[in-house]
Amino acid sequence: MSDADAEFHQPKATTKEGARVEAAAIFLLRHIIAWSVKEQKEYGGVIYLDTASGEIRANGPLSATTSANTVYVGQNEVNLGLPATQRPLAWYHTHPLTEMNGWHFEWDKFEGGDYRLSTTRRIPGYVCTMDGWIWRFDPSPEPQADPETGHIDDDGPGSWGKILNVPRAPVDSAHAREYKQPAGLHW
Ligand SMILES: [Zn+2]
Repeated sequence: MSDADAEFHQPKATTKEGARVEAAAIFLLRHIIAWSVKEQKEYGGVIYLDTASGEIRANGPLSATTSANTVYVGQNEVNLGLPATQRPLAWYHTHPLTEMNGWHFEWDKFEGGDYRLSTTRRIPGYVCTMDGWIWRFDPSPEPQADPETGHIDDDGPGSWGKILNVPRAPVDSAHAREYKQPAGLHW
């Protein structure tokens, strides 16, 4: 394995439900990243199980209100703002910017509010970065010990990486079209 390949340390989802969720995330992110880069705005949403139909669906893509703003996917609300019949399984968003609110933005990292959302809800986060790669963050399933100090971390580091064997999405302006989900889309 070359050093370049070593970045791709996140294996594809392996459970049946996980594979469906991941298919949804990859599909949506590939459809929005070029537009997101062109607009210089984050886009995102929540992937959920519709418990009545058993279908996996997603809301969004929602956009950030301004360019230096994090997209709001319901992170301050109970059940991410979804009705009780919709169970959040993952969330997805884009990182089209290098600067946010005057600060250098760690666009190829999963930290801060992104980390908190996935960790407190215990759901994976999918990100498409401005270079077209798709990444997945898996929160740790329960508190974990810090490998250096042995201290029990309340959240654990989780695991973050580009997903193996997922091709880079086109990000050039020729592919930049605003995307709206067709009605009834599910996985
Ligand atoms: Zn983010």
